[in-house]
Amino acid sequence: MIILRKVEDIREFLEKRKKSGQNTAFIPTMGALHAGHISLLNSAKSEGHYTICSIFVNPTQFNNQQDFAKYPKTIEQDIYALEHAGCDLLFLPSTEEMYPNGQKSTLQYDLGYLETILEGKYRPGHFQGVCQIVHRLLDIVPTDYLYLGQKDYQQCMVVQKLIELLDIKTTLVICPTQREASGLAMSSRNMRLNDTEKKQAAKIYETLSHIKKALKAGELNEIKETATQKLIDAGFTVDYVEIAESSSLKIINNWDGHMPLVALVAAYLNEVRLIDNLLITN
Ligand code: AMP
Repeated sequence: MIILRKVEDIREFLEKRKKSGQNTAFIPTMGALHAGHISLLNSAKSEGHYTICSIFVNPTQFNNQQDFAKYPKTIEQDIYALEHAGCDLLFLPSTEEMYPNGQKSTLQYDLGYLETILEGKYRPGHFQGVCQIVHRLLDIVPTDYLYLGQKDYQQCMVVQKLIELLDIKTTLVICPTQREASGLAMSSRNMRLNDTEKKQAAKIYETLSHIKKALKAGELNEIKETATQKLIDAGFTVDYVEIAESSSLKIINNWDGHMPLVALVAAYLNEVRLIDNLLITN
């Protein structure tokens, strides 16, 4: 695996290898890698793509400075895991490389409705930071395919919107959420949970599965309230439990029995904020 840290170097390298004709797949991450990240890489490799991963903990997408400061960092293990999984190229830039003119963005991305709900509502500025870094990364690493995880459902929709807004020539590939045997969605933030909390955290998936089972046409408020209460009883502080149209994330309170839906949860277990989602209709 080749490791490059400078924007100039990776630009030059990718320009040279363009001639190979092999498609590229880019997998941006914030490190503290787990099997979820590696599943994205495996998926890209199984398509025969040249695989490029990046590790950069982007400060501008953290609306909470403590969360940024406490974000897990396991760079040596990450390099080993990527090498072992057969990643071709790792981009490992510093903050100065990514933001040579400072972190304040001069652009405002018009995300419309998507930024007013769920993560957009509870983490003000978060998606502007996501767009800022994805814009910058895709400018440095032009790619045929961009691999993201369904675990961050709303983020996938925001990035798709960004691709359209900026007319970026890439195809988004969304990979399924990888889970622990308990159902807990794999996440770098899980490293901040102790064993008892990890067991508790599995309640999120249990709750999403319960929503899927209980779903029927008509009013959805009761299902949402029961689910929220389940999480509160399990010791969570809940930001939201929502049910939305899966293609637009429009919040649904009354279901016609046909529209494809996704259930989404964000909740704190002590200091750690966890998110998860589940498609609840086919
Ligand atoms: P992150 O390092 O958390 O920014 O995640 C990097 C990429 O990995 C994003 O596209 C995430 O959606 C994806 N990802 C994170 N957790 C999982 C998971 N459990 N399963 C599949 N993809 C994931």
